[in-house]
Amino acid sequence: MRKAVFPGSFDPITLGHVDIIERALPLFEEIILAIGINADKKYMFSLEERIHFLAETFKAEQKIKVLSYEGLTVDLCKKENAGFILRGLRNAVDLDYEKTIGQTNYKMAGIETVFLIASSGKSHISSSVVRDVRKNGGNFAFMVPKSVAESK
Ligand code: ADP
Repeated sequence: MRKAVFPGSFDPITLGHVDIIERALPLFEEIILAIGINADKKYMFSLEERIHFLAETFKAEQKIKVLSYEGLTVDLCKKENAGFILRGLRNAVDLDYEKTIGQTNYKMAGIETVFLIASSGKSHISSSVVRDVRKNGGNFAFMVPKSVAESK
């Protein structure tokens, strides 16, 4: 089965992530949305909230599974029998960062990373900008799916 893991913090999921996931659906039989838990990182939304946002956004999509994980993404891929990692690219900064990780993951485990370039009109969206606007009381609804926009 052609299975991909889409790893991320999803703090919170944005319409940029949704764009990548929806466009990747025809390429894979299953996509696992995997929230990486990093004990050193501070998140705006709890793990439970982030899982809820993902599950709610894709509740009608049979091919999508949501989980959280600790440790290496390649270890999760092996455990879940997924041959691919899915990532999105917004700009040259993303590319530079993703390149070394993708190359390392391939060396470590022979797992290919499939990159989709953000759709035009979506590359300005990032979780960090959403968090910043939300923290300062601004309108962020146009950058996120409904479940996040309605969050308290
Ligand atoms: P991480 O903390 O691992 O960077 P994120 O949740 O921020 O996790 O991002 C997960 C993936 O989604 C990354 O590959 C990132 O480049 C991609 N991504 C984030 N925002 C967008 C966007 N607007 N368009 C396309 N890809 C995006």
